[in-house]
Amino acid sequence: MRDDDVRSSCFAALDVLQAKWGPDIPYAALVEGFNFRARRVPFLNRAFGIYRASAQRGPAALSVNSSYKQDRYQDEQTPEGVLYRYQGVDPENHFNRWLRNAHVLDVPLVYFVGTRPNWYRPFYPTFVERDIPDELRVLLTFGRMRGSYDEREPVHITDAIERRYEVGLVKKRIHQAQFRGAVLPAYRERCAICRLREVRLLDAAHIVADTEEAGEPTISNGLSLCSIHHRAYDEDLVGVAPDLRVHVSRRLLDDDDGPMLAVLKGFNGVTIATPSKKAWRPNPDRLGMRFERFLAT
Ligand SMILES: [Zn+2]
Repeated sequence: MRDDDVRSSCFAALDVLQAKWGPDIPYAALVEGFNFRARRVPFLNRAFGIYRASAQRGPAALSVNSSYKQDRYQDEQTPEGVLYRYQGVDPENHFNRWLRNAHVLDVPLVYFVGTRPNWYRPFYPTFVERDIPDELRVLLTFGRMRGSYDEREPVHITDAIERRYEVGLVKKRIHQAQFRGAVLPAYRERCAICRLREVRLLDAAHIVADTEEAGEPTISNGLSLCSIHHRAYDEDLVGVAPDLRVHVSRRLLDDDDGPMLAVLKGFNGVTIATPSKKAWRPNPDRLGMRFERFLAT
């Protein structure tokens, strides 16, 4: 009993929630759940990590989750996938049975990763690739959804190289999501340049490109920017000097076409907004390195 119907309703509902909220979904919406045969089914159980819905008839988990703080689970990222811990130390308790049955039945589930307090990013379809009872954990890998929009089907990737590639993408997304989850609140969810407060239009921009894909997201290497300013910053059309002043490129200043351009040009010389906590403020050395590149273009 694989509960394919529950799983496809779950994935379709997550598609809708991501269209509404963006890639990260608030916990409240996940607890509210999705419709399945005239009942509401929550997506996850935050208290226990491993979750099987009471609407299911089969024995395998529907989702697993890890909190933002990673205090209990400490997922370990490897090139092969993510090592996810059992609940407690008894491999036979019902939570772990649900998880291990997902391996036996090879069913797709959802891996929810906390990206900031009370926000989660879902990864689906996720598969329990390997069960490692000696270590009290499983190896999670990531599949793909294939097919047209209304008939999407979860596919388990069997090719090891392809699977590694997918794992790499997911790890990168997790890291970026956690970086954004750390940077945006530090800037009280507004653009450092224009002060726009619309979280759906805000990004966390790296001051200096981040080469390590795992590890602590460093807020002082980030700027909270709206999509337009992020793009302009990445393209060196807008720079931020180590004294926190905004410089608009000559190229834009000399151009005089359209109201949008006027909006971009209007911030030439303003001082960016910074986090209140000193340790979170943009690192002047990094700003300097990056600003040299801006001056050079
Ligand atoms: Zn902006």
